Amino acid sequence: MNPVAVGRFRPATPGGRPVNWAATGRLGGVSSGEFAELNLSFTVGDDSSRVDENRRLAGRLVGVEQCNVLDAKHGALVQFVTEPGISAATDAVVTTVVGLGLMALAADCVPIVLADPDAGVIAAVHCGWRGLGLGVVPAAVDVMREHGATRIKAVTGPAICVDCYPVGLDCISDLRMQLGREVLQECAIDRGDQWRVDVRAGVHAQLRLESVATWAIERCTATDPQLFSYRANGRTGRQGMIVAL
Ligand SMILES: [Zn+2]
Repeated sequence: MNPVAVGRFRPATPGGRPVNWAATGRLGGVSSGEFAELNLSFTVGDDSSRVDENRRLAGRLVGVEQCNVLDAKHGALVQFVTEPGISAATDAVVTTVVGLGLMALAADCVPIVLADPDAGVIAAVHCGWRGLGLGVVPAAVDVMREHGATRIKAVTGPAICVDCYPVGLDCISDLRMQLGREVLQECAIDRGDQWRVDVRAGVHAQLRLESVATWAIERCTATDPQLFSYRANGRTGRQGMIVAL
């Protein structure tokens, strides 16, 4: 395996438990062609037995055999899950189950893992510009708090950078209607010739407003050959962020 990054959310109290997380890219799996090597998605045209093996390898990075994988829909639905499997039409999953990995897939959108290692609550989230406007990240934080989380930390994974993400005016006008000024000014960027969206900066602003300490894996999917990018490649695989108690 050759993950993009692995890390650990450490508890602040003796009763807490460390929470492992990992971010994957292209390297280290068994897929080939445009899905080489570590595609984690069943829905992009890759061989499903290879995706199964890739998901097993990815789960092992955080020490689990099975994961609940969200099948994102660019919405704001958050589900509390207790079993492995696929969460359909869901952009965020939350659990308190030890040994159950949570996996968010992306190929330009921002995958996010969150944890309160003292309360034993974790989440995985998928967020593109639509999810940013709909507030999927604060919605996931709300569900974590409903299950006892108080001190939440987060890591945002590889995503398309603002320079590589020009958007149309329709996107900007949607975000203007949906977001408060503090988040909007960080994510909607007027470069004169073209509007751009910095989804990662928007996610970080939303998390800051929720008092969530957040770190970033600042790698751009569109320009980094070790990452999958839908914008750059079209038919391609998906990388993931995985977290487990
Ligand atoms: Zn870029």
